[in-house]
Amino acid sequence: MNDFIPFTNEGRGEKMKLVNGFDLMQYAKQKGYILPAFNTTDMEMTYAIAQGLSDAGLPGYIQISSNNLRLSNPKMIAELAADAVRSYDIPVALHLDHGKSFDHVKACLEAGFTSVMIDASHLAYEENIAEVRKAVEYCHFYGIPVEAELGALRGKEEDILHESDAKTDPELVEEFVRRSGCDLLAVSVGNVHGLSIQPDIDLPLLKQISEIAEVPLVLHGGSGIPAEMIRAVRQYGVLKINYGSDLRKEMIRSFGEAYEKDHNAHDVISLSLQAVENVRAKTAELVKMVNCQVSA
Ligand SMILES: [Zn+2]
Repeated sequence: MNDFIPFTNEGRGEKMKLVNGFDLMQYAKQKGYILPAFNTTDMEMTYAIAQGLSDAGLPGYIQISSNNLRLSNPKMIAELAADAVRSYDIPVALHLDHGKSFDHVKACLEAGFTSVMIDASHLAYEENIAEVRKAVEYCHFYGIPVEAELGALRGKEEDILHESDAKTDPELVEEFVRRSGCDLLAVSVGNVHGLSIQPDIDLPLLKQISEIAEVPLVLHGGSGIPAEMIRAVRQYGVLKINYGSDLRKEMIRSFGEAYEKDHNAHDVISLSLQAVENVRAKTAELVKMVNCQVSA
């Protein structure tokens, strides 16, 4: 366990093993996989996610939100993610989650991200299209796919509480996808961010959207959604499911339990290694669950 975090710096300058987002989507479609996208926050989380995916032998995304870039800048996280997947043989893409601006998108592409989201879903419909279109034109030039969001999710995205609950309007989907040029569409169908609100997935709406959308769908807020519902959404064009809270909870639980037991606890090294093990196990469990490889 003492050599768990394999940051070696070996192979610096080698071709990165992170997979291009378009290639990952194509691979998953061919093989019939659902791609979980796990939110990293920092170094430990990044290695834990890569190891969990490798343990399961299944593909997925490591992603980081725009807000999280305050803690871990794009260059650092790209370097860590590239190193984390270097010794494994599973396809992993590095994705910007909830990209809040064109500048963040650009910074992440320059750093080596292989997939991005531009989230302009808080803006009016036409402005959302314009923002996404701008990111798409830039990213496609570099061969990078773009996820966009139509509708708004309730819950807490990082430190921002969203009260609105605007489900994706199926009437707007065809036009939004066509005019924005997005490659993946995040939908609001009763899914929520965080674990404090119960999701209530509207399967008929998801089905309706999947029949209209010409691009794969993305479900944010995977953490609160029960396994049987995840199995149900598989048939409705969902290719990517985001998981943030589940992994963060594992990380915090590891430290919280130690503190509860002993208020003088201070062995950050052992606790961090234990937290990594816990996140790694949860990652493997979730990627198997979304691909129906375990009965949860
Ligand atoms: Zn989200």
